[in-house]
Amino acid sequence: MTAKLIDGKAVSQKIKIQVKERVEKLAQQEIIPGLAVVLVGENSASLTYVKNKKKTCEALGMRSDLHQYPDTLTEQELLSKIEELNTDPEIHGILVQLPLPKQIDEFKVISAISPDKDVDGFHPISVGNMMIGKEAFLPCTPHGIMELLSNYEIDLAGKHAVVIGRSNIVGKPIGQLLLQKDATVTYCHSKTNDLASFTKQADILIAAIGRAKFIDHTYVKSGAVIIDVGMNRDENGKLCGDVDFQDVQETASFVTPVPGGVGPMTIAMLMGNTVQSAEKDLQRQNNSKYVK
Ligand code: NAP
Repeated sequence: MTAKLIDGKAVSQKIKIQVKERVEKLAQQEIIPGLAVVLVGENSASLTYVKNKKKTCEALGMRSDLHQYPDTLTEQELLSKIEELNTDPEIHGILVQLPLPKQIDEFKVISAISPDKDVDGFHPISVGNMMIGKEAFLPCTPHGIMELLSNYEIDLAGKHAVVIGRSNIVGKPIGQLLLQKDATVTYCHSKTNDLASFTKQADILIAAIGRAKFIDHTYVKSGAVIIDVGMNRDENGKLCGDVDFQDVQETASFVTPVPGGVGPMTIAMLMGNTVQSAEKDLQRQNNSKYVK
């Protein structure tokens, strides 16, 4: 058996075509979805992510403003910028690229973003709504993973999903979304004893660890579906995931590559959330006209 590839590049392309159609529809009403990206500091990985987001926005006919600051920016200065963006009618999504320099409280900053423009889905209100299954902007990476599983018609009901990682941006939310689709979910983390004893029970294995090629076939049950969220550099500086892609080929039934798996889905879902925000804004405007 050789594992089938879950092609995130192809699925994300399909999603971006749908997003572009929605952008064109909004353009007929003279609305251009606008995403403001705030970058503080010189982190080179962050700069690459931010540039990719801007390029994708523009390719889909959306507006993207980059607000770039030195790492000496104060918390108050950043909060004032967010306040300004919150009230800017041409901006539908606000994304603050993490990590932030240590003088700035990340939670305070994320909480200052208007939930109506929280296209990253990190605001406590978005997280709370997601948890109870109410409408919310879903965090882009977990949402992208769910789209991949759905596109490959991978049945989740009654399946055992094991998530390695419990970060607020990937591990915790993907576990919740899998639970909402009736999977039985186990979370593992760095304090888990005998990790392989859990991962070997997984029908669906999500690796969100941040360790190059950590998961080999000894962690994998025969026929498992593996989603590799990791973005790491190997010993030669080449981009690689948390999973040893070659080593799991004979054990897994499906696996995502890195690059070309979860990564492109994250950006596609961000574009989708920004368009959704612009559509909701238009809806609110129409509703208020109707009330008057
Ligand atoms: P994170 O905040 O560093 O969390 C890593 C998680 O892995 C933690 O919960 C940690 O456990 C757990 N862990 C670390 N070592 C472990 C071990 N030996 N055994 C079991 N669990 C272990 O990272 P993150 O932000 O969730 O990101 C995870 C990876 O995904 C990174 O490589 C990141 O670059 C990548 N990523 C990719 C995308 C994308 O779009 N493709 C998006 C976001 C993140 P503790 O909680 O106990 O410390």
